[in-house]
Amino acid sequence: MSLLEAYADVVGPDVIAHLRQLARPLAGAKVVHVNSTRVGGGVAEILTKLIPLTRELGIDAHWEVISGEEQFFECTKGFHNTLQGNRTPISNNLLNVFEKTNERNAETLRPTLEDADFVFIHDPQPAPLLRYCPDRKGKWIWRCHIDASHPYRPVWKYLRNFVAPYDASIFSLAAFAQELPHPQYLIPPSIDPLSEKNIELEPQYIQSILDRYQLDPQRPLLAQVSRFDRFKDPLGVIQAYQLAKQFLPSIQLVLAGGGASDDPEGSAVLSEVQAAAQGDPDIHVLLLPSDANLEINALQRSADIVLQKSIREGFGLTVTEAMWKGKPVIGGDVGGIRLQVINHHTGFLANTPEGAALRIRYLLHQPQKIQAMGEKAQSFVRDNFLITRHLREYLTLMAALFY
Ligand code: UDP
Repeated sequence: MSLLEAYADVVGPDVIAHLRQLARPLAGAKVVHVNSTRVGGGVAEILTKLIPLTRELGIDAHWEVISGEEQFFECTKGFHNTLQGNRTPISNNLLNVFEKTNERNAETLRPTLEDADFVFIHDPQPAPLLRYCPDRKGKWIWRCHIDASHPYRPVWKYLRNFVAPYDASIFSLAAFAQELPHPQYLIPPSIDPLSEKNIELEPQYIQSILDRYQLDPQRPLLAQVSRFDRFKDPLGVIQAYQLAKQFLPSIQLVLAGGGASDDPEGSAVLSEVQAAAQGDPDIHVLLLPSDANLEINALQRSADIVLQKSIREGFGLTVTEAMWKGKPVIGGDVGGIRLQVINHHTGFLANTPEGAALRIRYLLHQPQKIQAMGEKAQSFVRDNFLITRHLREYLTLMAALFY
């Protein structure tokens, strides 16, 4: 069975036939996606599957990763933080490293990029590449995965100079769109229901993961899976858990995360989390390797409630992953989480640790509500956030820019 046919069992054969139809006029087109890390974080997660599926549709898709030194990632993490609202200027020295690093990467990538029919540049890290590819032949699209609803203006103004000459940009939500001189498209991300992260698991395997991390299957489990990043508010999760634990002493909390190679702040945040968790054997802070997909899957499936208490969130694939597993999510009332957590239906939106704690107590006292919300969550993901929908929208966008 081909890779695509396998999805027919999940989404129905018509969806696959539609993808093939949409791809036909694009057959042989050269498509290149560029980002700054092969593993860790949502963008890498998406590209890992989107590329082989696009190729199976007869499109010549590739994925390139730019490389950089410590100062480059310090600068781009600064972009990430400031586009998501932090007000910290970035030094000219770091901006210089940012531009020089892109110029250096362009030297290697130029033939591929200039020759491509479509180039998708993900997030700010590789945004200046276009400037260094003057003889480009195809359409260039800037794909922003960040919660850019309230960017720090001086930094956005700087980045906008690189983004404006693109042919189009893509944001996950209307609230993130910016004033730009080209068409903007709204395409939310997606998950792959057939990846290791999301496939059904044998109960014995799930049990082995619970054993490995000394989690008690008889007691309620709360989980947040995220990079250790302040925007994910892991300390707020611990506070919510502590507030709820006063009323529900048996609860356990897992904070599972790993680093992304383009995120230099992870270890500092991890230390803060470990300090906050110290002394409570029911808080399990798990530092996982980047290929721990089955473990994360098992932890999400073992949780009674999944938390994603972000204070800014581009989309939150972890929310989608949990909902697909039939879990109600208590999420921060921000960015892409709002697109997924329909308050009181597929989960709850919470602004504070107190709010999250209240919802934890409410749900754990009503197992039938957990079940009903989880079912709604799963069907909402099936209808809106699977990779087949994502692929369809990319194909439609390419066709729209082609003609
Ligand atoms: N993830 C992972 N290991 C970790 C932490 C996260 O594999 O230790 C995955 C997670 O399952 C999800 C993605 O990385 O698929 C994170 O995407 P999301 O949109 O939630 O957040 P981002 O990291 O892109 O801000």
